[in-house]
Amino acid sequence: MRLLWRLYLSFFVSTLVALAGTAWYAEHSLRLFNEDQLAGDLLVRARILEQELAAYPPGTPPETIDRHCREFGRLTETRVTVILPDGTPLADSDHDTATMDNHGHRPEVLEALAGHVGRSVRFSDTMRRNLMYLAIPVRRDHAIAAVVRTALPLTAIEWSLDAVYRQIVLGGLMAAALFAIVAMYLSKRISRPIEDMRRVAERLALGDLGARMVVPRGRELGALARTLNQMAAQLGDRLGTIERQSNEQKAVFSSMSEGVLAVDGEARILHLNDAAARLLELSPAQARGKSIQETVRNLDLQRLIADTLAAGKPVETEITVYGAEERFLQVNGAALTDADGKKLGALVVLNDVTRLKRLETVRRDFVANVSHELKTPITALKGCVETLQEGAYRNADEAARFLGMMGRQVDRLGAIVEDLLSLSRLEHDAEHNRIPLEPGSVGEVLRRATQAFAKAAAVKRIVIVLQCPADLVARINAALLEQAVGNLVDNAIKYGTEGTQVTVSGAATETGIAIQVGDQGVGIEKRHLPRIFERFYRVDQARSRALGGTGLGLAIVKHIVLAHRGTVAVESTPGQGSTFTIRIPRQ
Ligand code: ADP
Repeated sequence: MRLLWRLYLSFFVSTLVALAGTAWYAEHSLRLFNEDQLAGDLLVRARILEQELAAYPPGTPPETIDRHCREFGRLTETRVTVILPDGTPLADSDHDTATMDNHGHRPEVLEALAGHVGRSVRFSDTMRRNLMYLAIPVRRDHAIAAVVRTALPLTAIEWSLDAVYRQIVLGGLMAAALFAIVAMYLSKRISRPIEDMRRVAERLALGDLGARMVVPRGRELGALARTLNQMAAQLGDRLGTIERQSNEQKAVFSSMSEGVLAVDGEARILHLNDAAARLLELSPAQARGKSIQETVRNLDLQRLIADTLAAGKPVETEITVYGAEERFLQVNGAALTDADGKKLGALVVLNDVTRLKRLETVRRDFVANVSHELKTPITALKGCVETLQEGAYRNADEAARFLGMMGRQVDRLGAIVEDLLSLSRLEHDAEHNRIPLEPGSVGEVLRRATQAFAKAAAVKRIVIVLQCPADLVARINAALLEQAVGNLVDNAIKYGTEGTQVTVSGAATETGIAIQVGDQGVGIEKRHLPRIFERFYRVDQARSRALGGTGLGLAIVKHIVLAHRGTVAVESTPGQGSTFTIRIPRQ
C-alpha cells in the first residue's frame, strides 16, 4: 500500500478512536454527574420524609403513614416507600403494600439496613423503566426502625444524555470529516518528499549518479536528503576515480610492448593485454575466462604457468610459438598476489625476442661468412707461397706470375677488410648519431663519384652520362653519399655490357631528392632482388670474385642511405640492365 494511504489511514483511524474515546468519556462523566445530582435530590427528599414521619408517635397505624407517603409522593413526584427492618413494605406512594413482596434483599435496602445511605439503579418491572433508588435508615433509640426509600425514573437524565449523545456524534462526524481533509493534507505533506526521495534513490540505484534530491524543509528528511546527495556525490567521485584508474591501467597495459597475461589459480585467463594477444595470436575478448590449455596450444607455456602456480616463485624460460610466423618469446612467470599477499594465480610477462634471435643468427652467419671470405684469398696465398717455396721462385717467369697472383689476393683481402671496416664504422657512427648531415650540392657528389671510375669505364668503353641540376642541394653527408654512389657506379660498370652507357642522375622530387644509377648490363633476376643488399650476397659468386667484388658494396650503400634516413631500391630486367634509386627525404 502506498505510504500516503498508510499515513492517511493511520491518521484517520487514530482520530476516530480519539473521538470515540472522548465521546465515551464525556457521556460517562455526564451520566455520573447527573446520577449524583439525582441521588442528591433523592437524599434530600428522603431526609425530609424521614423528618416528617418522625413526628408520628409510635404505634401510628400503617394506613396513616401510607397516606402521608402518597401525599408526599404526589407533591414531590417521587415514589417513596417505607420498609420495616424485616423487609416488609410498610407504606408506598404508588403501590398497595399488600401486593408488594419482601424488599429486604434489595441492594439499597440492604445498605440502609447496614446503617449507610444505599443507592441502586435498576429496571423497575412495575414502572417499566430505569429507576434510581435511594434508601436511608430511620433510627429510633439507636436502632434502625425502618428504611425510607425514594425513587425517581432516570428518564430525564436519559433524555438529556441522548441529546448530548446526538450532539457528540454529530460533532464527531463533523470533526471526522474535517479531519479527513486535514489528514489527507498532512499525509501528502509527509509522503510527498519521501516519494520524491524514493524516485531519486531509484534513479541512483539504476546508476544515474547525477540525480539529486530536492532538500525538503523538515529537519530529519532534510538531513536524509542531504546525506543521500552527499553519498551520491561521493559515489560518483569514487566511481570516476576507479574508472580513471582502470582506464590508466588499461592504457598502460595496452601500450606495453611486453605481453602481460594473468591467470587465476585454475590457470584460467583473467586478463591479457594487446601485446600478449598479438604474440599468442588470440582474441582478448574470446580468451578471457577460458583455461590456458584450451586457448594457448603451446605446451611450454602451459608448463611454465603450471610451474609458476605450483612453485609460487618466479620462473623464466624461452619458448617458440609457431603461428603465422615463428616467434621466440622470453617468458617470465611470477605469482600473482593481492594486497594482503593472498595468492590469486600467476602473472606471465612475454618478451618478443625474435628480432634479437634473428640478429644473433645474422651475426653468427656474418662471422661464418667473413671467415669464409677471408679463407679463400688466404688459401690462394698459401698455395702460391708453397709453390714458390717448392722451387718455382727459381724460374723468374713463374715467380713473377705467382707474385702477381699473390698481389691480387692481397688486394682482395685488403678490399674485404676495407669494406668490413667501412661497414662497421658506418654502423657504429649511425648507432651513436655521429654522421653529420649538412646542405651540400648533389651534382658535385655525383660528379666526383663518377670521376673516380672514369678509367674503369674507359676500359670497358662505357660512357657515363651525368644529369643533375647544378643548384640541387640536399642535407647530406657528402663523403658517404659519394662512396654510396661510387659503389653503384662501380657495379654498373662491372656488370654493364661493354660499349654501353651508364646514366647517373640527380633530381628533386616531391619529398626530397632522388639519385639514379642505371646500366645496360646483365641485370638481376627477380628472385635475387630482395636479398642483394644483404652482406656477402651475390647473384653469381664466381663472376663477382673475378670482378674483384667483395659482396659488401650494396650493404654499404644501404647503410649510408639509412644514415640519410632515405631508401634505396632496385629495378632490373635480366639481360637489359638495372637501375638503382636512392631517395633522400628533405626534412
Ligand atoms: P659485389 O662486390 O659482388 O659487387 P655488391 O654488394 O656490390 O657485391 O653486389 C651484390 C650482388 O648484386 C653482386 O654480386 C651482383 O650479383 C649483384 N649486382 C649488383 N649491382 C648489379 C648491377 N648493376 N647489375 C647486375 N647485378 C648487380
